[in-house]
Amino acid sequence: MPDFTLTEEQKEIRELAHKFAVAEILPVARKLDETHEFPHEVFRKALEVGLLNVNIPAEYGGAGMGMLEEALINEELGWACSGVGAGMEVNNLSNWPILLAGSPELKKKYLPKVVEGWKGAYALTEPEAGSDVAGIQTTARLDGDHYVISGSKQFITNGSVADFYCVFAYTNRAARYGGMSCFVVERGWKGVKVGKKEDKLGQRASDTVAMEFDEVRVPRENLLGQEGDGFRIAMQVFDRSRPAISALAVGVARRAMEESVKYANERKAFGKPIGDLQAVAFMIAEMSINIDAARLLVWRAATMAERGEKCAREAAIAKAFAADMCMKVTTDAVQVFGGYGYSREYPVEKLMRDAKIFQIYEGTSQVQRVIIARELLKPH
Ligand SMILES: Cc1cc2nc3c(=O)[nH]c(=O)nc-3n(C[C@H](O)[C@H](O)[C@H](O)COP(=O)(O)OP(=O)(O)OC[C@H]3O[C@@H](n4cnc5c(N)ncnc54)[C@H](O)[C@@H]3O)c2cc1C
Repeated sequence: MPDFTLTEEQKEIRELAHKFAVAEILPVARKLDETHEFPHEVFRKALEVGLLNVNIPAEYGGAGMGMLEEALINEELGWACSGVGAGMEVNNLSNWPILLAGSPELKKKYLPKVVEGWKGAYALTEPEAGSDVAGIQTTARLDGDHYVISGSKQFITNGSVADFYCVFAYTNRAARYGGMSCFVVERGWKGVKVGKKEDKLGQRASDTVAMEFDEVRVPRENLLGQEGDGFRIAMQVFDRSRPAISALAVGVARRAMEESVKYANERKAFGKPIGDLQAVAFMIAEMSINIDAARLLVWRAATMAERGEKCAREAAIAKAFAADMCMKVTTDAVQVFGGYGYSREYPVEKLMRDAKIFQIYEGTSQVQRVIIARELLKPH
């Protein structure tokens, strides 16, 4: 088992992230939820204090933090606004394919730009293929020293603000999983088109758009790894992105619990604070049990991913548990607040709306169970 004692440095990182969340995210979270604006200013400040792109190694100018540090930061971001946190996390997510499979030249070309402020997006999902990754239709055809990428992508976080995209496409469709490849595509290249922005239930500060890659000519050297490595890259990224996203969910749930505790101590019914009613107190106790359990699962998966250990099952367990837990805790928080919980004047309805997407993106809660079962049942 990993050692879960945080070092002094890790505690400082968490403290920095919390202070940033309180000072820079909390004051604008409600407005961003209402206006659906992208938080450019928050991103700029996060870059300044070193909370963006934390997974880029020092040799490229980055902070070179590990997965556990990323989880600590994300819990604080999620606590303040998971829409903002999701956008920031997608920068880490879109660095991963380059970090895991990029050539030394590609790393030298793109990672320092990201450190300077380039935003990234991760373009895997398509209108007809979400859970069924192998069902994507986008193709990349070799033409001289370029690949020509054609296809549509759907629900791409940071899509309209990104400077580069990690795009998944078939170089050999007949080979199915073994014929998928991943490319770094720059925003400015001809044929990269940003489509409709989604009007979402929650996490409205994150930017989610449809995209079109219309005969985009991509230099051959922008292929990540070899032709056919795309699916393997996507799976390796999931092992890292699932704990990171789950940490945002833990943050949302922790905030919901803290708001519930405060309200339960203040609100009176039948002549005493509602926190004195066992039905309410037990709801809060359940929140605490499940938040702690989720955090430990997230830290376990993050630590294993950081050590390079095989952790598809552990990452899926963390994601499934944290997402379902977050939905339950935020729904119960609305319950603790009674009618006021349903009002936009109080913070918990936003937390409940924000929570739902954790059960859908980075693999749905059903898909996580498919993975966990497959890992347990596959022949050894
Ligand atoms: C806000 C938001 C942001 C997103 N950001 C990104 C992004 O940055 N990049 C990106 O590439 N994608 C992104 N996505 C896409 C997201 O990952 C997919 O929506 C998700 O994987 C589900 O795919 P789908 O929507 O096509 O649903 P489907 O795959 O059509 O699933 C529909 C239902 O069927 C169930 N189902 C499907 N297959 C199985 C199975 N084998 N067993 C059991 N149940 C199954 C699902 O659990 C679900 O309940 C984002 C989505 C949203 C909404």
